[in-house]
Amino acid sequence: MAGLNKNNSAVKRIMQEARELANDPSPEYSAAPLEDDIFEWHCTLRGPAGTEFEGGLYHFRILLPAEYPFRPPALMMLTPSGRFETDTKICISFTSYHEELWQPAWGVRTAIIGLQGFFPLKGKAAVGVGSIEHPTAERKRLALLSRSWVCPHCQQSNQELLPDPTTEDGAVQPEPVVTEQVTEQTSPAIAPEPIIPVPPPRTPVPSQLRRQRPPLLLDGAICVILVLVCGLLLRRFEFLD
Ligand SMILES: [Zn+2]
Repeated sequence: MAGLNKNNSAVKRIMQEARELANDPSPEYSAAPLEDDIFEWHCTLRGPAGTEFEGGLYHFRILLPAEYPFRPPALMMLTPSGRFETDTKICISFTSYHEELWQPAWGVRTAIIGLQGFFPLKGKAAVGVGSIEHPTAERKRLALLSRSWVCPHCQQSNQELLPDPTTEDGAVQPEPVVTEQVTEQTSPAIAPEPIIPVPPPRTPVPSQLRRQRPPLLLDGAICVILVLVCGLLLRRFEFLD
């Protein structure tokens, strides 16, 4: 990025956002400015889970204006999705079509997460420049194809740009499988494994949740012991009398 005026406020801001995204990567997207133009970013975004885009990986351009962050970015889809036209500036509430709705405190990350939220919209909410409404089957077919789609500029496939999350031993996480209830067969003598809830990453857990009240059974046991102790003491006093 030679010849770039690093005192320019837009350049400073964009470089700061690029550092933040590089230091705090997300499993949902991977984005970075082009090496030869900091005002153009390329991003690979995961299709939202539980929708016809699940499993899909979508590559798009983020075009930042010279007045960034005071004017919004423009987004241009490159991977066929059946949801957004390719090579067309997408009109959604926070993009260059609606300057008045953009806030300078937002950033590239806001635009990416916002675009992901626009994927599953249907009907009137989904209408706008750059939107298309292909049937579900076609969107699913394109989602499968999107994984091996290669960006002509980045020269890498979406799967290479945003690999699927892996477990600690390096294995690719399996698809969630719905397990059948087998409560009837299990022996009552064997206590079930305690299920420790794992909070999702970067979601703050309120401290109150961790301080769990002791179970009612324990309260009952303490009461019984207290009554027994009192009874014994009373009997002792009776003998003394
Ligand atoms: Zn690219």
